[in-house]
Formats: sequence, structure tokens, C-alpha cells
Amino acid sequence: MQIPKVCKYCGNNFLAKTVKTGYCSHQCASSASNDRKKLERRQKVLDRIKAAGTEYITITEAVKIFTTSRNTIRRLVISKKIGHFRISPKRLFVSVKGLEAFFPLRDKPVVAAPKTTQVFDMNPEHCYTIGEITKRFGITESSVYKHIRQFSIPIRQIGNYVYAPKKEIDKLYNNKKARI
Ligand SMILES: [Zn+2]
Repeated sequence: MQIPKVCKYCGNNFLAKTVKTGYCSHQCASSASNDRKKLERRQKVLDRIKAAGTEYITITEAVKIFTTSRNTIRRLVISKKIGHFRISPKRLFVSVKGLEAFFPLRDKPVVAAPKTTQVFDMNPEHCYTIGEITKRFGITESSVYKHIRQFSIPIRQIGNYVYAPKKEIDKLYNNKKARI
């Protein structure tokens, strides 16, 4: 079974073997799982802080939990967008609620934004002919055309040959073993 899907991690198109498959590669699946674990860890730290009734935390803590920069937090504090108080010129505490509003942990998309503008290299030297694709990846011509349509991969005809960009085709079939 081959189901066209968009990888939940890198945003690339790929062919999945099962309906449940969400990632184009083991690498993407494990990166996504690492991100999820990191997020859970940060969420736990935050839950613990809130459970203890702590309403203000240091910038260092905020940077760790909300994965932002000291400068971003300072800017929000200076523009009074986040509640805070100072106990000395150098020691600043920021509001947990304020931070949560600006850097929501649970709603944060773990998925990388798919590339919106794609430039295709249609130079024949960087393309496969359809025939080459069928041989290289062991896929029938009609399937190749079907996938090209499904994934909106551009094709270009020169003489008797139809060309498709190597990069896109390799990406699409990278789970399959090349026959050459
Ligand atoms: Zn991926």
C-alpha cells in the first residue's frame, strides 16, 4: 500500500505504507519524538512550578521552560507586555501567566512549517526521464505519473522524453531501494 502523505516533521511529501505512518523517515520520527519528550519535560517543570503556587520566575528559568531568549523576554518586560517585578536592578522576575500567554507550550506546533515556495530544477541534467524513474525505483510508468500528479511535481517534455526533477523524485521514493 502506498499512501501519499506530508511528513509531520519536515513537511516533505512521501509515500506511506500504512495509514498510521506520519513521518517520511526514521530520522523524522525520532526527531519528532525527541521534540515531544523535550516539550513534555518542559511542561512538567512548568506544572511543578504552578503546583507550588509560584507566580513569578527568573529569566533563566523562563528561557529554559519556554525556549526563548533572554532578549525576547526583556523586550516583552520593557514594553510591559508581561508582568514582572525587580528585586534589584539585575534580578528580575517575570509572570508565569504572562509567559504562558506569549509562549504557549501545549499548543506549540511541533511540526516544521512546510516549505511554501519551491523552486524546481528543471535542467535535464538534474532530472530523470520517466523511463529512468521506472527502472531505478521499480515503479510502473502509470504509478510514476500518478505520484507526479498527486505531489504536483513539475514535468517537462523535451523531444520524446518527459523529465522530472531528480531531487523531488529521490525525496518521493527515498524509502524504496534504488535498483541501480
Ligand atoms: Zn520528514
